[in-house]
Amino acid sequence: MPELPEVESVRLQLLGKIVGKKITDVVVLHPKSTNHHPNFASLLVGKKIAHIDRVGKLMIFSFVKEPDFFLLGHLKMTGQFFFVQRKSIVGGGHSMSDTDSRDLPNKHTRISLHFSNGASLFFNDMRLFGYLKIATAGEVATARGRFGEEPIRADFDFDSFTEKLQRRGTSIKAALLDQSFVAGLGNIYVDEALFAAKIRPDRKANTLTAKEAKAVIKAGGKIMLHSIEVGGTTFQNFADTNGHAGNFTEHLKVFGKQGTLCPRCKKAKIQKTRVAGRGTHFCPNCQK
Ligand SMILES: [Zn+2]
Repeated sequence: MPELPEVESVRLQLLGKIVGKKITDVVVLHPKSTNHHPNFASLLVGKKIAHIDRVGKLMIFSFVKEPDFFLLGHLKMTGQFFFVQRKSIVGGGHSMSDTDSRDLPNKHTRISLHFSNGASLFFNDMRLFGYLKIATAGEVATARGRFGEEPIRADFDFDSFTEKLQRRGTSIKAALLDQSFVAGLGNIYVDEALFAAKIRPDRKANTLTAKEAKAVIKAGGKIMLHSIEVGGTTFQNFADTNGHAGNFTEHLKVFGKQGTLCPRCKKAKIQKTRVAGRGTHFCPNCQK
């Protein structure tokens, strides 16, 4: 599953390609990907894309002069978007082999959107967990309400976060993975953020000082922004909308580094354990 930086990379690239474009045709090749909406295609035809927002890993497409009509997009396990304009094809979301890009739509294409300028956007999803769903403003508000603040936002409320941490008896790792509490930090980024802030993943959330709480969020935000810049991690053979594989893995300090010497203290080996039900990596020496 892509982490938030991969989804953000896809969103940023789609923004530059389809905002302002008018949809002239929609083909639904697999109704499950539209949540079996009976009028999916006819409702979208004629609408012009105004913006693509994102909350967590959910993309929110809005339309010009349509205050109560949205499209929610989620890649889930294997979803990917391919944007095709004339003869150049670029893809994004997950691995894209040469065979995938040569012939679109292909057997994994679930929905295709065609635009007035001749461009097309294909939604491919091998395992069919992803979707493009039509939603009302109320449904969008509900979806937004399920997510906490994102560490990459400049206006992150540290005081409120620290206060809420004091009421959490779980591990700090479990708290950071809870998307309704802090949105966007997946398993990889939580391990990296806790390493950067020198906090053990199994520490009780309510034992963190305000300074530590701020440090871990700052570190998480910085790591996520860096990952967005370099195009995401490559764990799922992720490819951005230009078909480039993300290369954030080379910047990871602890995730997947079990058995290697800690790059900071150089006194202990990175350990792998299980915290909050997830594979967890940390330095037993310099994380307290
Ligand atoms: Zn260390």
